[in-house]
Amino acid sequence: MSIDLLSKFIATKILRMENGNLTILDRSMIIIPVEVLIKHHENLVEKVGKEDADELLFEAGKFETVTGSVRYLKRREELRSVFPNVSKTGDPSIEMGRETLKFMGKGDILIKEVINKGEKIILSTENSPFALEYIKTRGKSNEPVCHYLMGVMCGVQEAYYNMKYKATELSCKATGKSHECIFEFIKKD
Ligand SMILES: [Zn+2]
Repeated sequence: MSIDLLSKFIATKILRMENGNLTILDRSMIIIPVEVLIKHHENLVEKVGKEDADELLFEAGKFETVTGSVRYLKRREELRSVFPNVSKTGDPSIEMGRETLKFMGKGDILIKEVINKGEKIILSTENSPFALEYIKTRGKSNEPVCHYLMGVMCGVQEAYYNMKYKATELSCKATGKSHECIFEFIKKD
């Protein structure tokens, strides 16, 4: 996020910092270390097993954006003044979403493929904070680790395309076998 964009976020009160509270589009936010979610996932694996732990983190990430995206889609026209040039995706609410995710440290997410009007979507990122922090604090992982981030991306798409998806992390940087994380989303029937 550029300083120019950050200034616009503050000027339009999209982003507010008052009395020790931080809000984005009137939603209260806190900044927590990524490792907290990694640790939370490890605790869940012990309690409920890996499959459910993965799912719970994924669902939490999805909740963040399924509920958040609605705010951006509602305020699309207002956001057009902040994003006059939306050539990347053609939609100011999606640009706002991408910039907000970057602002919140969730990495630069790229759209690799959108097939059949969103029925299959491939996204990637070279800087998933979950993969980077996992390697830094725990070394290489045998499994993909970006469950929360995959949920975040899934929620954006479910809100935008109004479809439900089956999500899979095809390759994860945390395994050391790939320089990027690649996510596949396929429409559920
Ligand atoms: Zn990953």
